[in-house]
Amino acid sequence: MRGKLRPVGSRVPMPIDHERPEFPWESCYRTQFMGSGTEALSVAIALSVKLKPGVSSPEAIIPAYGCPDLVAAIISQGVKPVLADLKPDSPWMSASAVSKAVSSSTVAIVGVGFLGIPERFASLLRVCREHNLLLVEDSAQCFLPASLSDPMADCVVLSFGRGKPVNLMGGGALLFRNDSTKAVEPLLAKYPLELRKTGLVWRLKRWMINLLLGRTGYKVLELLPLGIGETHFHELHEIRRLQINEELLTAGIQNCCSRPHADVQYDSELSELELFGWKLLTKTCKREPSELRRRFMLRYPVLAPSRDIRDRALRDLNAAGIGANALYGRILPDIKGVDAHVMAGSYPMASDFAARLLTLPTHEDVKVSDIAVARDVLIALARHESDSFKRDSA
Ligand SMILES: *Cc1c(COP(=O)(O)O)cnc(C)c1O
Repeated sequence: MRGKLRPVGSRVPMPIDHERPEFPWESCYRTQFMGSGTEALSVAIALSVKLKPGVSSPEAIIPAYGCPDLVAAIISQGVKPVLADLKPDSPWMSASAVSKAVSSSTVAIVGVGFLGIPERFASLLRVCREHNLLLVEDSAQCFLPASLSDPMADCVVLSFGRGKPVNLMGGGALLFRNDSTKAVEPLLAKYPLELRKTGLVWRLKRWMINLLLGRTGYKVLELLPLGIGETHFHELHEIRRLQINEELLTAGIQNCCSRPHADVQYDSELSELELFGWKLLTKTCKREPSELRRRFMLRYPVLAPSRDIRDRALRDLNAAGIGANALYGRILPDIKGVDAHVMAGSYPMASDFAARLLTLPTHEDVKVSDIAVARDVLIALARHESDSFKRDSA
């Protein structure tokens, strides 16, 4: 059986023996491990409500294209998610859309790092300071978080789920500033504490999961009717604090920071696509050069010239054994279950982004030869499109 390169997911590490580990954010933020990234975000939202008392129906601003867990976390605290459209051809919230979304009921802005591209926190911070809002960095997809180099966010959310940069088979963390400890601790005390051991059962599960990450394992998984990779909305019903083996997280961080940077390879191999109207987001959403070296791209995002070309590219890439996908595929109000919790509205830039986005794998098993296969498929399609366009217009 010919295998398939999985779209995302890195191997679960083994804890490394160590003295008490120090996390890279410890000079600015305290760490509370939580049951998941969604649970950590929910506590951040609870904090924003607490810090702005007297707001009768609080609201939090999030991007109109994003993970449905954002909505689950926000509504779990009785807060209303308010969506902001995106800046054209980017995963960032548009500055004017954010300004328009702010009202006297707003308590927080959640800036979401997209597959390793951080939000533009400096401009979000200005809005937050002006209106007394909490700035949350959702860094579930972005490791290390942007707030490490410049600690602008009041809280940072990390996820250690399976498709995330540091895969510990679940769990998450809320990072909060030392000076907000007094406000955060009573909020946290409400939630039960669960101990996560890395014993025999954990080791067996780790072995199974790492096995399924391989090309044959992934192909088998995909053939089963499990709905792998589909986007669903799940309400958040339970919030727990976790006590984890901190040496495991240290191993996960080392593992993540030492992975090869497939995005650098894609940048050069796919540059011809730019001549055909494709956008390479790692280039167009330019980050600081120093950040580029340190941050792991969870997937490699490109924008096709149209939805039709994107869909054909996905078909061709998957037929060639490359696990490419469209990520969420639609804007938040169009995801089943989310629609009941957000205002319907028009988010033209987010809709366009959802229609044209294609993501390619970047994990540790992506070989130079896989990137060459992706390049050949995409460039053949782009050239073919451009030829038939010329024929039609002749
Ligand atoms: C996955 C994800 C979450 C939720 O994290 P879990 O640990 O799966 O609950 C939140 N925000 C973003 C941007 C994510 O990608």
